[in-house]
Amino acid sequence: MNSQSSKTWSNWAGNQTSNPLSIKKPQNEEDVVEIVKEAKKRGLKVKVVGSGHSFTGIAVTDEVLVSIDAIADIRDVDFGNLTVRVGAGIKLCDLNPILQRSGLAMPNLGDIVYQSISGAISTSTHGTGLEFKTIADAVCGMRIVDGQGQVVECDKQKNPEIFHAARVGLGALGIITEVTIQCVEAFNLHAVEEILPIGEVTNNFDRWSKTTDHIEFFWMPNTDKALLKRNTRTLEAPPRPRNKRHSLKRRWNRFKNEEIKQNVLFGAMNHLGKIIPPLVPKLNSMVAGESGRAEYITTSYEVFASPRRVRFYEMEYAVPINYGIEAFRRVVELIGDLDHYISFPVEYRVLGKDEIPMSTATGRDSAFIAVHVFRNTPFEKYFQGVEEIMADYEGRPHWGKLNFQDHETLSNNYPQWEAFQNIRRLMDPFGIFTNPYLDKVLGPLT
Ligand SMILES: Cc1cc2nc3c(=O)[nH]c(=O)nc-3n(C[C@H](O)[C@H](O)[C@H](O)COP(=O)(O)OP(=O)(O)OC[C@H]3O[C@@H](n4cnc5c(N)ncnc54)[C@H](O)[C@@H]3O)c2cc1C
Repeated sequence: MNSQSSKTWSNWAGNQTSNPLSIKKPQNEEDVVEIVKEAKKRGLKVKVVGSGHSFTGIAVTDEVLVSIDAIADIRDVDFGNLTVRVGAGIKLCDLNPILQRSGLAMPNLGDIVYQSISGAISTSTHGTGLEFKTIADAVCGMRIVDGQGQVVECDKQKNPEIFHAARVGLGALGIITEVTIQCVEAFNLHAVEEILPIGEVTNNFDRWSKTTDHIEFFWMPNTDKALLKRNTRTLEAPPRPRNKRHSLKRRWNRFKNEEIKQNVLFGAMNHLGKIIPPLVPKLNSMVAGESGRAEYITTSYEVFASPRRVRFYEMEYAVPINYGIEAFRRVVELIGDLDHYISFPVEYRVLGKDEIPMSTATGRDSAFIAVHVFRNTPFEKYFQGVEEIMADYEGRPHWGKLNFQDHETLSNNYPQWEAFQNIRRLMDPFGIFTNPYLDKVLGPLT
């Protein structure tokens, strides 16, 4: 096993840092067992980090930090049942092309694919689509090293209560070493992306979301425009390029849209807006007006996810689907009343309910409203205002995105809260996997 003594760690957004006593890099499950047993003996806490893409302190520790990047192998592909068994450290961006080559795909994905599979499921990471669920819902088996260094195998038949809770475990139940995922047959997405008046989008969104596989919109503050994305699942192949020049042109158009407009230009505009805030509304109008309309068909994971190079801070809330648009309209009003401009879009997605105790969509079809600010700019007043609105709808914050809640306010919104806490006590009786964020949102282990 590789090990390294104290080094500063920070997350993707740069708003969470820590100085772990040691950073451990296990090569296999036996190494993980040894790390947990040793930490228990020495009275130290242990925290696994995936890709560090959470905005909250969920992966922060000043004690033993574990990176399971090396446990990222493909262990088995079951073509009959469409399942794949992988080392828990595998990144979605590495997994997706491998699945594709095997004729398989993840049923649904979020906006990016740099997360580890175990990090993504642990925070209830999701994409969009009322007929689809959280990434964690696709998990059908796991191996976890618990707080006593024992390996627990779980699925619907074996240790079903643990399995039920551990798919969204917030890193509080143990170290996941292996994940089995229920995939689907590989598919393409027919993507239509267009700029529309925000009123048209909000008036029709609930109806469209019932008939569109994957739908979301991004509203640019201080403008009346939104980018609406509608993706339809298809087995139809992408149209063949007419010739080499046509193929190059298509690739260039995509690069221009995703890389130049959404990353390079958007980043430059945010820097400019930070230096000269009164320019923000004008810059927002330029961003909203710039993107145009795009329509294409390609591999599912390439449509779901895009690169996000401009660093930001984010808060996201899930509310019952019927209140989503109302809550969004209140966020629009709030932004209008703020004493500063917001230069990042508000994102709106939908998702079908699942039954996982700590999933943000547990027991209810949900609308997700995400707010962002450019990194190193003030967010507190804006995000607190959004959180107050969401409280009126029993809003649930994304576990990996900024929020100001604690276990007393959160427990009421999760019907299976106690069931999760029972499994937490069983899996981590000595509190090895706790940290200040978990103590706050889940409460101290009692
Ligand atoms: C640019 C960007 C875009 C994003 N887009 C989306 C999106 O579209 N949808 C969405 O829902 N979220 C999104 N997120 C949030 C992100 O998906 C989550 O925060 C996710 O948890 C990050 O995965 P990670 O591998 O970086 O995990 P980390 O942030 O490193 O860790 C998250 C949690 O998982 C635990 N964990 C990690 N590995 C293990 C393991 N092996 N065993 C036990 N616990 C473990 C950690 O201890 C921690 O508690 C986005 C974040 C960013 C920065």
